[in-house]
Amino acid sequence: MKGFSTIAIHGHEHVDAYGSHVPPIYVSVVYEYVDQELGLAKFTDRGTNLKYGREENPTTRALERVISKLEGAEDALAFNSGMSAISTLFLCYLRPGDKVVVPMELYSSVFVLLDHLASKMNIRVVKVWPSAEAIVEAVDRSTSMIFIESMTNPTNKVIDLEYLSKSLDLEERTLLVVDNTFTTPVILKPIKYRARLVVHSMTKYFGGHNDVVGGVIAGYRKDIAELWEWRRLLGGILQPFEAYMVMRGVKTLEVRFEKHSNNAMAVAEYLAEHPKIEEVLYPGLSKNPYYSIARRIFEKPLFGGVVSFKIKGSYSDVVSFVNRLRVIKRSPSLGGTESLIVIPIKAGSQFIEPEHRQKLGITENLVRLSVGLEDVNDILEDLGRALNY
Ligand code: PLP
Repeated sequence: MKGFSTIAIHGHEHVDAYGSHVPPIYVSVVYEYVDQELGLAKFTDRGTNLKYGREENPTTRALERVISKLEGAEDALAFNSGMSAISTLFLCYLRPGDKVVVPMELYSSVFVLLDHLASKMNIRVVKVWPSAEAIVEAVDRSTSMIFIESMTNPTNKVIDLEYLSKSLDLEERTLLVVDNTFTTPVILKPIKYRARLVVHSMTKYFGGHNDVVGGVIAGYRKDIAELWEWRRLLGGILQPFEAYMVMRGVKTLEVRFEKHSNNAMAVAEYLAEHPKIEEVLYPGLSKNPYYSIARRIFEKPLFGGVVSFKIKGSYSDVVSFVNRLRVIKRSPSLGGTESLIVIPIKAGSQFIEPEHRQKLGITENLVRLSVGLEDVNDILEDLGRALNY
């Protein structure tokens, strides 16, 4: 079983007495002890006890097997949100005195969380320009973790993972964690580039329909075993109904990601030629400064569904443009069936430091569009009508 979609569909490995092809939603929170006196429970396929729903659930486990294979990992753990996965990871690995290197452009709530942890736990967070070169320069012997996103949000910069993995001593001392939410394993498998852990907000492309919140960490068996204990203590396991929803979403991940990417490419090309557009930030455009890195490290010539662009005009022109859209909805999040738009300085990037926002190009006239799965002509028509008003 090698093909991406074959694994996505069959990789759960669920077998039962009925011959079900779809793993059922196991709602039971409790499971029979094998030997009550000895406190012996049944074992899961990874050797943990199956006895209580905060620790393991067979539906959630089936999803984890799929994701682990798709990422080329040894194991995975599903959480009830992306932030639950990320906060568990930080609490598991960070110790007082540690230095964490992050790009200055990162999902805002991760910055807020790191700031809280920095003040409570005496952790030093060093924010650098989102490039492999700047990260390599910032890493020293006190660096315990590098946390990056495969494509930055909202300006779609691509960090050269190949350069990073060749230039750093990543083995034991420095943990490379890659948030692969924007790119998904359809086009990028960070473990190939020596990432020790890969995280996702499954709320995005994995779920894919804007109807489920979830997160996941994939990695080596030894790391996942440590994280398993922290998930058990912090209580963040993904619940079975949500696990089923994500498992259903993942079956069509490859076809959806292709359509998101193709729609987004058409939108980026259209906007790049539009007289009311100042700049389009999409690594699929050959003139984009990140195009060559993306072509080299992405497994397919697909660049995801997020297109950011700057409108010629003031902030109020941008607000009026967004308010004129009909098919595209004004909402946060990305990677789902519906096309969604936000103005990053008000929604998402407000916790990036103002001088960093300026350097990164997160300006008042920037919008971030998550291109959905609607007919691309309807999306283009919606954009055109709102721009040509
Ligand atoms: N990572 C990225 C790149 C995100 O965009 C988000 C949410 O937008 C998260 C993590 C957090 O995920 P969740 O909202 O599922 O907690």
